[in-house]
Amino acid sequence: MGGSVSCYSFKLCTCPDLAEGLLRFAYALSFLDPADELIKNAAYIGTPGKGILAADESTGTIGKRLSSIKVENVESNRRALRELLFCTPGCLQYLSGVILFEETLYQKTAAGKPFVDVLKEGGVLPGIKVDKGTVELPGTDGETTTQGLDGLAERCQKYYEAGARFAKWRAVLKIGANEPSQLAINENANGLARYAIICQQNGLVPIVEPEILVDGAHDINKCADVTERVLAACYKALNDHHVLLEGTLLKPNMVTPGSESAKVAPEVIAEYTVRALQRTMPAAVPAVVFLSGGQSEEEATVNLNAMNKLQTKKPWSLSFSFGRALQQSTLKAWAGKEENVQKAQAAFLTRCKANSEATLGKYAGASNLSEGASESLHVKDYKY
Ligand code: 13P
Repeated sequence: MGGSVSCYSFKLCTCPDLAEGLLRFAYALSFLDPADELIKNAAYIGTPGKGILAADESTGTIGKRLSSIKVENVESNRRALRELLFCTPGCLQYLSGVILFEETLYQKTAAGKPFVDVLKEGGVLPGIKVDKGTVELPGTDGETTTQGLDGLAERCQKYYEAGARFAKWRAVLKIGANEPSQLAINENANGLARYAIICQQNGLVPIVEPEILVDGAHDINKCADVTERVLAACYKALNDHHVLLEGTLLKPNMVTPGSESAKVAPEVIAEYTVRALQRTMPAAVPAVVFLSGGQSEEEATVNLNAMNKLQTKKPWSLSFSFGRALQQSTLKAWAGKEENVQKAQAAFLTRCKANSEATLGKYAGASNLSEGASESLHVKDYKY
């Protein structure tokens, strides 16, 4: 396993700094195995105490967020929001990665510093969303497959040269009377595996994200059953495609009851989620970075904390790669106004610190939650 990655020979490229240039030179001359870089970066992202900010909303999706605070969806406002997040004093110590949308990978602060440099100087790896969204699988009841394999190798090379070191590809499955179908499970598992090996051949750590939507009235047992089937299929496909598991990360949903079902305690979610992972996820994978999937900010943090407190076998670190659950109270506090930036950054820092503590099982809960922190962020049939 991993042979195809080790054999891969890097092309020399113009590198922004000398250290990186030398490293690339060593890879090119095969002093160093490119697999080592994947393994090192994947392990770094999983460092306990740190996690990922998913700030890779597509232009359409960020538009919905901005319209919720009555801000126009134009490049300057998208850039301003991302600058507010990445330049929050003290936040980068709690992060090991930030996922960017292509536009953001090339953007700069108002003072002219590339966002990629802001992140790298703060010890945070830039990541990139590489999928091109979902399309319906004909003959199914609204099930989907994810697009974006065509030209992916070339895009990965371009993104690596721009500073990206990991990638994300979101596959979406849903729970229904007859869903997910075997067709949707197989198709999405294979797509994730093809994406993963292409990323690895081009120096990017793939985040494997088979999101099972929370939509529905099912109970937690049903979600556990589906999560286990989907993860088992994904790891079969990743192995069949010779993906180096040590150089990957898993981004799953937490195992919870459906959105139209009664809630259960964080300890129950923790037990079901960790059990599903124990049954399906190889110990070779360094870390699990959960999506928040429409949970409120506080719910997502408390559930992650409960998993890290759980005393059981856990050969991987359990961390976060939250989008909505890291940004909601910040967005509300900002409301697109310059005079609110400090208040918004304070809200963002609070969430980053809380989630960092949750990766260590040390989150004590908040005495006064900021506006938006306990609000459900569920959107039916969510698109990213
Ligand atoms: P949420 O945390 O908002 O579910 O999104 C994370 C993500 O990156 C989904 O692809």
